[in-house]
Amino acid sequence: MIVFNLHCAGGHGFEEWFTSSADYEAKIATREVACPECGGTDLTKAVSAPRVNGGASEPAAPCGLPACGGGGCPMMGRS
Ligand SMILES: [Zn+2]
Repeated sequence: MIVFNLHCAGGHGFEEWFTSSADYEAKIATREVACPECGGTDLTKAVSAPRVNGGASEPAAPCGLPACGGGGCPMMGRS
């Protein structure tokens, strides 16, 4: 999933989640996404970098156990 900051022609800003950038392009093209404030479908994507849920940019925590922070994680070192 990926979230974009969108702005409508009326100047309202809001966030919308999409499964991919292609999903975003398709939903904008078909006007499937509308401004929650005014219902406008003339939307533009803000320039800010999108947040990606589940992307590689998240802090590395191989197993999620507290031991990971101390370097004693049993998952570390596996290839
Ligand atoms: Zn609006």
